Parts: sequence; structure tokens; C-alpha cells
Amino acid sequence: MTPTKPCRTVALAGNPNVGKSTVFNGLTGLRQHTGNWPGKTVETATGQFQTPGGCYILVDLPGTYSLLAHSAEEEVARDYLCSNAADAVIVVCDATCLERNLNLVLQIIELAPDRPMLVCLNLMDEAARKGIALSPEALSRALGLPVVGLSARRPRELARLTAALDALIAPPAAPTLPRYPDDIEAAIAAEMAAASCPRRQALLTLSHDPAYTDRIAAALIAQAESIAHAACAAPGCGYAPADRRIDRIVTGRFTAYPVMLVLLAGILWLTVQGANYPSAWLSSLFGVLEELLSRGLSAIGAPAWLRSLLGEGILRTLGQVVSVMLPPMAIFFPLFTLLEDAGFLPRIAYNLDRPFCACRACGKQALTMCMGFGCNAVGVSGCRIIDSPRERLLAQLTNSLVPCNGRFPTLIALITLFLVGGGGRWDGLAAALWLTAFILLGILATFGMTRLLSASLLRGMPSAFTLELPPYRPPKLGQVLVRSVLDRTLFVLGRAAAVAAPAGLLIWLLANCSFGGTSLLGHLAAFLDPAARLIGLDGVILLGFILGTPANEIVLPIIVMTYAAEGQMDGALSLDALRPLLTAHGWDAGRALCVMLFSLFHWPCATTLLTVRRETGSWRQTALAAALPTALGVAVCAAVNLLFHLMV
Ligand code: GDP
Repeated sequence: MTPTKPCRTVALAGNPNVGKSTVFNGLTGLRQHTGNWPGKTVETATGQFQTPGGCYILVDLPGTYSLLAHSAEEEVARDYLCSNAADAVIVVCDATCLERNLNLVLQIIELAPDRPMLVCLNLMDEAARKGIALSPEALSRALGLPVVGLSARRPRELARLTAALDALIAPPAAPTLPRYPDDIEAAIAAEMAAASCPRRQALLTLSHDPAYTDRIAAALIAQAESIAHAACAAPGCGYAPADRRIDRIVTGRFTAYPVMLVLLAGILWLTVQGANYPSAWLSSLFGVLEELLSRGLSAIGAPAWLRSLLGEGILRTLGQVVSVMLPPMAIFFPLFTLLEDAGFLPRIAYNLDRPFCACRACGKQALTMCMGFGCNAVGVSGCRIIDSPRERLLAQLTNSLVPCNGRFPTLIALITLFLVGGGGRWDGLAAALWLTAFILLGILATFGMTRLLSASLLRGMPSAFTLELPPYRPPKLGQVLVRSVLDRTLFVLGRAAAVAAPAGLLIWLLANCSFGGTSLLGHLAAFLDPAARLIGLDGVILLGFILGTPANEIVLPIIVMTYAAEGQMDGALSLDALRPLLTAHGWDAGRALCVMLFSLFHWPCATTLLTVRRETGSWRQTALAAALPTALGVAVCAAVNLLFHLMV
């Protein structure tokens, strides 16, 4: 009997989304779905396959951009590659963005120089479609490693990969090792001597030292760029030339911020302009429904209190929430998702990396902040993408300083009512610019609070990160509409409505139960009034913010319903009907401004607070997440209130 040769173990490494699973499934015949998004548990998938040259066990490592940082994926992949467990390594690269992939190839060569290694240059079909002409032979010469160019989606082409694997028996004779500037090389040598450790260990230690992190990353990127250039079979193939041209503007030194501002103002302008008509239409619809309900209840002889509770209590609050909230949400969410889908969000994170680093935070916080525009609870859970616990906490504690979608409609309604002229041609644009200014204020507050925290409670240095700038893609309109309407708009609306109905009931009860000739609502509002007036609000407004804690969407409706319950409200719910109601209760531009500022800066909604609790596991941090924006809001509103009082 001839002894069977043991299977060779081959590690499959690469960036996320380069087709590793496709290669893995194609070779092993398995249907492995490997999650590439940073998560709590990171697993490696294993499968076996046979070639004419022998048998292999393929280990699919988590997709990573780098092996030098601390994320769970990187640690799993790095430990495996350094552990000698694999007899050979296949690094899968995406031919459409070779530079970014080569960064990892160079790191793997550095960390496992004694392993036989080959590069699988995948997605050659997509590269060809984009006019990117790469030469696997030239890349092989530049790297000193065998390179197989293929499209893993075509199973026949995988045969070339297995043939190359069968031929792969020795470590590369002369691989291209990363080169660093002289002082870093000297520091590596010194670390090797001091810790009596191998070069890769010394490099890892230095790469976590803030004095070297950025420079080591920069040296790798520069080398990856020049190797990618050498692999070009035609000029301009490293990155789609059109993408490069757009990026020159979108991420350019002088153009990035103006472009981001114009995009933001444009989205907000469309939202404000577009929301008015459906808002008025929905409010009259709810007016009719209320009328119908009242008549129907009278017809069946329902008592007056029940008609009032169901109509003026529950249905009217629900109508307020739906007619004021739904239109801006239904416009803003899809527009925001379109930008996300087209590939703009990572560019925004890239642009904001520098100011966040200046605040000693991580550039990824820009991404979680952008998520916060949709929903702060989503933004807080999104902070998981930040590896360092200190920077993650900074992002979690400051997320609610940018207005979420639940607060936009309140801001839009009050801007329209109090800050822009009455019915002029440019009102929509003026309102959009005001809203842009509020959002910028929220972003500035995020920077300020982050800086303050990192200079006090959460001291530390910022860490480096790798962020993929994906190619620009024409957004998939249908998918965006479905995703944003179903996933986001209906979810937020459903939550608001679920909270609005009981809130309407509660307000009705508080307004209709009285002692000493005054309703409970009146007592509560009167109790809060003196404190509220110090910050430019009144007792009813502060009560609205407190009762609106379950969802920001219902704050303005609660305020309106409370005023109405206190006295006059002619049944109409539209924006036009709001102005006389609010002015009758002492509202002017100064008060509206204070309400908007308090809406921007106050405790996060209950869902966000519970998310902070879940993510941090600490009630103390949750209390801090509530206290920080509230303290800021109180200070800002008190200052604005004082200013208005001094002016008049
Ligand atoms: P992983 O995240 O690295 O495991 O990548 P996947 O195997 O999940 O592939 C990411 C996406 O690229 C999937 O939609 C694949 O169908 C697609 N893909 C993978 N290989 C190819 C290829 O050679 N050509 C094309 N056009 N698409 C590919």
C-alpha cells in the first residue's frame, strides 16, 4: 500500500470584497458565506479540494485591508499567517483597484516571507470593462511572486489557479520586501535588538507607536502605488480615470469642503421644497378623517369624552406626526441613500479625517456621524467599526449632536414659520441654507465636544485606519427607493406613530384631568415654566421635549397639542395654522431659534440611549451621553435668550 500524501494547507487572504468567497467556493465546491464586515465574532472557513498535484485544505481568512492594526479580523488573519499553520498562501487581489490590494500583499510578504505565496489577480473581467489593462506577468516581475490573472466567477479559469498552486513548492526566491525610510529601518533594527524578536514582531510593535504608524502606512502605500504602476499595460490603469477626475474635485484640497456644502444644501433644498405640498395635503386628509371619525362616533351614540379622546387626542397627534414628518423623511432618506450608493459617503469620511484627527479622534467617526443624520441609534451601533475603545466611546457620546431624521422636520417647520420671509420666491432656498447652517453647527459641536472629551475624560492619541474609496457607481434607483422607503422611512414613521398614539392619549388625559381648576398638563407646564424661560423656552415646550423622549419626531406635535388642549385650535393641522397658534403663545423668532437649538442639542431619544447602554454596557456612559448634549443645549439657549433680551 502506498502511503497517502498529507494535504497541504493553503491560506486564502485578501481585502474584503475581492472575491475570496467566490474563489473559495469555486475551488472547494462549498457554499461558504463569509462575513467581511467587522463584527464581534470572526471565523475562518475551511474546505478541501483535490488537484492533479495533490490535496489541499483551503483556509479562508477574514478579509482585511491591513495586518498592522488592531481589529478582530486583522488579528485573526495576522496570527494565522504568522503561525506557520499554512504551507502556502494565496492572496486574492481586486484588479479594479490594485494599489489598495498591494498594500496587503506587501504586508503579507513582510510577515510570512518564508511561505510559498501566489497572487490571484481576480475580477479581470470587471477591470477590462472599466478599461483597466493590467499585465499579470509585469505584476509578477514587480512583486517577485507568481501571479494568476482570472475571473473567479468563471469556474474554468480557476484551473489556472490550481495549476499554479501545484507548481508552488518553494518560498519566493526574491520577493519584493517593503522598504521603509532609513530612520524607520534603524528603529526596527533597534527594536529587534532590544526585544530580541524577529523583524516582523519589531515592525508590528513600531506600527502601533503613534510616532511611526502614519509613516509606515505611507511607505507601504507609496510602494504599492509604484508596483501597481509597473503592472499597468496601458497608461492610467491604476484607477478609473473618470473616478480620478471626480475625486480630484470631491476630495481636492480646496474643493472638498465647498462640494460637500453644496451637496448638503442641495439635498436639504429638495427636501424643504418638496415637503410643503404633501405636508399640506396629508394634514387636510387627517382633518377629514377626524371629522369622519367624530361623525361616525356620534352616529353610534359614543359619549363626548370618547369622541374627544379618539379624535382630538389620538388621531390628531398621529396626524401631526404623519403630516409633518412623513414628507421630509420620504424625500431626505432616498436622496441620502442615493449619495451613499453612488460612493460619496466614504469620500466624506476621507475629507473629514483630518479635522477628526485634529480632535484626537478616528476619521471613521465621520462615517458614524453621517449615519447619525439618518438615525442616531444607527450611528451609535455603527461605531463598532471603530477599533479603539477610546475613539469608539468618543463617537458614541457625541453622535446625537448631529440632527437625526426625527429632528429635521421640526427644524424645517420652525425655519419655514419663523426664520424665512412669508411666501417669497427664494424661501425654499433660504430655508435650506438655514438648515445647512444648523447642521454645520451640529458638526462643529461634534468636533468641539470630541476635542474637549479627548483633552479631559478620554485622553489619548488618534489611530490610523484604512478606508476603501470604492469606485463611483450609478446608483440603483429602484433598489434605493425600496431600501430607503421600506427600511428607513417606514421604520422611523412606524416607530413615531407607535409612540404618537399613546403620547396623544397621555396628553389628552393630562389635559382633561384637573385639580384646583387647572389641568394636570397646566400644572406640569407651570412647574417647568420658570426654568424653561431661562433658556428661551416655556413650560409647555420643555414638557414637549420631556414627553417626546421616546421619539424626537413627536416633540413638536406634543407642543402643538398641548397648546391646543390649553385653549384654541381650530382643528386644522397644517403649517399655516401653526403660526397663529404659536404666536398666540408668545412665540417669536428668538423663541423659535431657542427651540431649534434645544432640538439640536438635548438628550438623545430613548432608543439612542438604550443603544448607547447596549454598546457601552455602562449606565454611566449612557448618562454622560445624555448629559453632554443637554449641558451644551442649556448653555447655548441661555446665551441666545440673553442676547435676544438685551437686544429688545
Ligand atoms: P469576498 O468578500 O472577498 O469573499 O468577495 P465575494 O466572493 O463575496 O465577492 C464579492 C462580489 O464580487 C460578489 O458579488 C461576487 O459575485 C463578485 N465577484 C467575485 N469574483 C468576481 C469576478 O471574477 N468577476 C466579477 N464580475 N465579479 C466577481
